Amino acid sequence: MQYIFNFASTKLRIKVENIAYLERLGDILEPCSNIILVGHVNPDGDSIGSVVGMAGYLEALGKGATAVVPNRYPDFLSFLDPQGQILSYADQRQEVEAALGAADLIICMDFNSLKRIDALGDAIESSSVPKVLIDHHPQPDGIFDLVYSYPRYSSTCELAYWIIRGLLRGSGLELPLHSATALYTGMMTDTNNFSNSVLPSTFRMAGELMEAGVDKEWVQKMVFGGYSQERMRLMGYMLLENMKMIPQYNAAVMVLTKEIKERFNFADGDSEGFVNLALNIRGVKVSALFTEGDEFIRVSLRSKEDFSVNSLSRAFFNGGGHERAAGGRLYIPVDEVEGYFVESLGKFVGNEK
Ligand code: 5GP
Ligand code: MN
Repeated sequence: MQYIFNFASTKLRIKVENIAYLERLGDILEPCSNIILVGHVNPDGDSIGSVVGMAGYLEALGKGATAVVPNRYPDFLSFLDPQGQILSYADQRQEVEAALGAADLIICMDFNSLKRIDALGDAIESSSVPKVLIDHHPQPDGIFDLVYSYPRYSSTCELAYWIIRGLLRGSGLELPLHSATALYTGMMTDTNNFSNSVLPSTFRMAGELMEAGVDKEWVQKMVFGGYSQERMRLMGYMLLENMKMIPQYNAAVMVLTKEIKERFNFADGDSEGFVNLALNIRGVKVSALFTEGDEFIRVSLRSKEDFSVNSLSRAFFNGGGHERAAGGRLYIPVDEVEGYFVESLGKFVGNEK
């Protein structure tokens, strides 16, 4: 039996803390003692924040929780995992498989499809234990037994916060401070530091977490104050020399090739946020960053107003995401990427008309 609570179409003001169906999650958790929390590939703040937040809640309940991700998170997020407890399937396959073998419940967070967790998807799919999804992306896969899918929430961390808060009510238990900090962090990074998808409930969450002791200055410093010199110089280079404007489609594009990566001694996470930069230019409604990797080109898309990069990515970039923040993959030579992007915009805008 699958229960789906999908509030994609409701006008927001959801009071998750008051909703009866939280009991379903409570009921599912009750008999479980070994829970696996799963984050997505190339984990970001929302991915790590939500699994660390949920792990803290489960620990407060006295349950065992193991967080796993398909590959390592960028270094700047290690402040959320000071003891290095989050397992990476790419690097610690045996540990992950052992943990999965001992698990009695799997909770997937911040992704809507097993395709978003690469090879880990097969391991999750073949496990016979119940699977719960807690996420804010539209159109979740049908493989989950219990789905909390709220695309209008700022972040999975915000959704998880309201769920945890609802479940904690009256229990006398508290969320550990490091988990509260993790939830704050993911909300902050997914809203691009309180600029996108922020709702009244987002500020309420931030306020409550500050009152509970989350040190927002410290989080700011850990997330935005630890850039390397190479990253700053790369950003300057990309803006000055690499970014191209495509005025006929109100678009801008950057292509980060392997050659450029090498030149700037690129480390994972160094291009975080670059794709947002062009949206600050007057008239730009769509921004793309293409990053050349060993096996494919990573696509990162952002938009403003009513342009759906989720649809654009689904149609042309083998991916998806949110209406205004999406991603995907391309399997073409890097020097053809810009032309392909312009062509896709032409077809996409033509179809929309
Ligand atoms: P980013 O540009 O930060 O890598 O990704 C932005 C958003 O796009 C993510 O939060 C995620 O929802 C979505 N996304 C990124 N890459 C993919 C992908 O390969 N497939 C799908 N379906 N969504 C993606
Ligand atoms: Mn997210």
